Amino acid sequence: MEKTFLLSVTHELKTPVAAVKLQLETLNSEGLTESQKAQLLKTALRETRRLQDLTENILLATRLDNNHQGIHKELISLRTIVYQEAERYRSLHGLKVEINDEDEGRMHGDFQMMTSLVSNLLDNATKYGGRELVKIHLSKKDHHVILTVADQGQGIPDNEKDKIFTRFYRIGNEETRSSKGTGLGLFICATVVRLHHGQISVSDNHPNGSIFAITFPA
Ligand code: ADP
Repeated sequence: MEKTFLLSVTHELKTPVAAVKLQLETLNSEGLTESQKAQLLKTALRETRRLQDLTENILLATRLDNNHQGIHKELISLRTIVYQEAERYRSLHGLKVEINDEDEGRMHGDFQMMTSLVSNLLDNATKYGGRELVKIHLSKKDHHVILTVADQGQGIPDNEKDKIFTRFYRIGNEETRSSKGTGLGLFICATVVRLHHGQISVSDNHPNGSIFAITFPA
């Protein structure tokens, strides 16, 4: 899995770098209309952001490996993070997302890690959600903050539900997989949740898709 990981990281790095280079070279040519320039810039920005997310995931995974150093907890609002990340995926990747925020989601948490958690769940919803509406629900019950992210994509078979939280694990094989990824996302989610004394689980959405549910002590 480590070998596959290195291969996919190299691939994941090469693709956006090549794309940004191409956008910038085209931008540099003459005779472009304002709207063409705007479109090129938008794509370059989106690809740059992908690169940033990828490097953040790799750095965070390394940080989590090193005996959990550097966790910085403060009073945060999960609602703020959810809105910020939903807006980012909406504008950059065209994700259709609906937020039902019954609660502010105040808790003691590491802002950067919690941002990464929400970002990774939305990244997966974008990649595997079949371009259908994604529903986020934030609530509070019995001194616990509950966050769920429900997509209407291909879903996750029962025999894969535990494995997907393992580092580098991706369902299927190199030939059958069409989506990009490194297999780090859900490992990061699970580790961040554990460091915040929470729980993460996945279940089936109906009629199709997956629901990721996370609970934190408030
Ligand atoms: P990556 O997306 O980079 O492959 P993740 O750790 O985020 O890595 O996810 C591991 C695997 O779990 C993915 O490769 C995919 O097969 C599966 N998966 C994750 N999220 C979803 C989802 N929302 N719907 C269906 N499959 C998913």
